Amino acid sequence: MDEDLLAVDYCIDCGKCYDVCHISKVTDNKYTPRSKIMLLQKLLDGDELDQEEINDIYLSTRCGACDDVCPVNIPITDIIQRERAILAQHGKEPARTSQICRNILEAGSPGRKDASIRNSWIKDELELNDSSDVAYMAGCWIAFAHQDIASSTIKILNAGGITPMAIPEEKCCGLFLIDNGHLEEAKEYAKEYVEYLESLGIKKVIASCPGCYLVLKEEYPKLFREPEFEVIYSLSLFDQLIDEGKLIPKKLNKTVSIRDACAIMEMSDIPRKILSEMGVEVREMFDRKRACCGGPAGVKPNFPEISSKTAMLTIEHFKDTPDGTVSYCPFCYHHLENVCQEKNEEMDMRDISLLLLESIL
Ligand code: SF4
Ligand code: SF4
Repeated sequence: MDEDLLAVDYCIDCGKCYDVCHISKVTDNKYTPRSKIMLLQKLLDGDELDQEEINDIYLSTRCGACDDVCPVNIPITDIIQRERAILAQHGKEPARTSQICRNILEAGSPGRKDASIRNSWIKDELELNDSSDVAYMAGCWIAFAHQDIASSTIKILNAGGITPMAIPEEKCCGLFLIDNGHLEEAKEYAKEYVEYLESLGIKKVIASCPGCYLVLKEEYPKLFREPEFEVIYSLSLFDQLIDEGKLIPKKLNKTVSIRDACAIMEMSDIPRKILSEMGVEVREMFDRKRACCGGPAGVKPNFPEISSKTAMLTIEHFKDTPDGTVSYCPFCYHHLENVCQEKNEEMDMRDISLLLLESIL
């Protein structure tokens, strides 16, 4: 029997995945992790899904919170990815999802942005080398929407004695292709990008975006092969530079909450350790559990209302702490900022790199 179907068969309807899924929460359990995986049998039997069932499969950010709690270890996010792959092959994925995949494959960014402005975050005040064995990858959300995160990251690296190079032809990491089951295209994409990065002669790539970091570090080896360069998460490097005494943060005496990045929850001690070095106290927002912002994997473009409602679960916590919320994911930041503007809510959130820069100046 098919392994995934066998796994689905083990579901005991315990409801644990409903309780942690933010999409389930804001839809009163209309769309749950369990309801999504229960559609696999129909898809494998070649039965037509109705629109509500298709919506269910695409109403997931693939945050992984459900995988974390399932007592019988059903690979829920892998099954959702497989269901999306089948729907895409049959031309049944949402039109916006197909469009974003095409944008990435043809133009190198989800929003089909002008590639010539991707590196416009580079300013004279930043020390960058034209060539180096250390490269910095900003990623789409930073390069096109939140360039202050790239500036503060480079300034921190410079203060710590590191002068990286920018990637001349940087492009999207391709996470959206992977989340939506476009794995054959993602394989070719990963091959091209890894070979391009290797052709630059770099030994290390520093990534600021948790999504980019995860894709370069974990997904490219599965899709293509282990790259010849090391992939480093910017906050890990900041932490190391503090430990080595190359960065000496001043105490800021603030109290914040943290908007964790689902993609790298396993590394969520690192931002807390950096904040503690800055004298910043943390009040936990979601008990340190994976809790999605409601944006990724196509939920924002395909289901804007549900995506906004999910974002509000974070935004309503902004006021819980005197000095707001700290984020370390540029896509969470971007999504939450959009929703704050749309709902006239105050955006009381900053990226951790801006706070660290303030503390070392
Ligand atoms: S991955 Fe996240 S959003 Fe998707 S079903 Fe699981 S908990 Fe819900
Ligand atoms: S947590 Fe696992 S076993 Fe429980 S309802 Fe969800 S999928 Fe089924």
